[in-house]
Amino acid sequence: MTEDERQEAQNEKEFVAQCELKRETSVDRFIGWKPVCPPLSQSLVSACQSCPRKFMFTHRYRLRRKGRPRSRALDIGTFFHKLMGYVFAGRSQDFASREVGKDIEKIIRVAEEQEGPDGLLPGGGTVGDMSSAMERNLAMALVMCTEFFNHYPLHNKWKVVGAERTVQANLDGIASDIRGTIDLELEDAETGEIWIVDHKTVGGDAMTRVAYTGFDLQSLLYRVLAKGLHPDRKIAGVVHNIVAKPTIDFCNKDRDSVWVDKTFKSGPRKGQTVQEKKFEGVPKFENYLERCREWYDLHNDEGSPHIIQSWWRFTGPTVPEELYYQLMQADLRCTREPKLHQFYRRTASCQAYNRLCEFLPLCEGNPKTWPGLIEVGYERAPDKEEHV
Ligand code: SF4
Repeated sequence: MTEDERQEAQNEKEFVAQCELKRETSVDRFIGWKPVCPPLSQSLVSACQSCPRKFMFTHRYRLRRKGRPRSRALDIGTFFHKLMGYVFAGRSQDFASREVGKDIEKIIRVAEEQEGPDGLLPGGGTVGDMSSAMERNLAMALVMCTEFFNHYPLHNKWKVVGAERTVQANLDGIASDIRGTIDLELEDAETGEIWIVDHKTVGGDAMTRVAYTGFDLQSLLYRVLAKGLHPDRKIAGVVHNIVAKPTIDFCNKDRDSVWVDKTFKSGPRKGQTVQEKKFEGVPKFENYLERCREWYDLHNDEGSPHIIQSWWRFTGPTVPEELYYQLMQADLRCTREPKLHQFYRRTASCQAYNRLCEFLPLCEGNPKTWPGLIEVGYERAPDKEEHV
């Protein structure tokens, strides 16, 4: 038997084994516990479309790798959303920054409790690394928030009627609850219409991101949720506040500096005097803001603004067929007893941001090997970790 033939026979054996497993009524016995029925949210529907098998592991069985850090540095997007929420609610940026600072302190306290005898956190890194990362992330989020309001100050015809509200709704024919957190609801004082606001941070080009925001799943879903909150009002549309993250970090270049003369003592420029910057003190936020402002201005001047506010007026029914179909599919996957062939593997998500999916060891092998693999490398995440 050649190597190719052996491989083919092995593949066939695997295929037959998979077909036999299809007839199993449940995959519970491979995992070791019962599945849950999570509420439908934008992130959940997207996860379901991305890879059904990963969705099953993560959202139905709440499976995750052991040793994951229980406390993580807050990222730029989280800081940005918090800051925008405070400022839209009428608070000053200083107040917003202080409040977010309290969140950081809480996370650091939890992280300190998790520190091992070797000074490392579960999953790697030190408390100091985490603290520095959050300081940098908060500085960038503050810059983004400041620059956003410089470009788009809130007009006084707008009244904030809700901020960061987690809303639940139900639709006929969909068994699962639908849930989401709307960044902001604005009322137009002149027309009485309600507009949904969604803040977005992007790593690349804001102009590209704006192109399809009006009909993305999140906008469609939030329209349904907002209608539940304001049944007698017209939900006019969605406003996207899109801000690109500057490609500049808060660092030693943000210390105060003076220009000093420097005379070359050797080489082809020997004897020549040039001016160079001499830095002193500690990095200052004002200097960082100035550097980032130049970066935003440059992109503005070049015709590719990195801060955009886009307005999209809704047309058609509140629940278009396109949305209903997606919710129906996700609903089935959220409520039915999982069967392997229904939660098939989809390789499009096996690799993201240069990292392999954490469930690859399970996907590679026969499900009969899962109990052993799960025992060694995975655990059940607490129920409260459902994302909306
Ligand atoms: S390894 Fe790939 S196929 Fe398996 S769950 Fe992850 S994304 Fe899905």
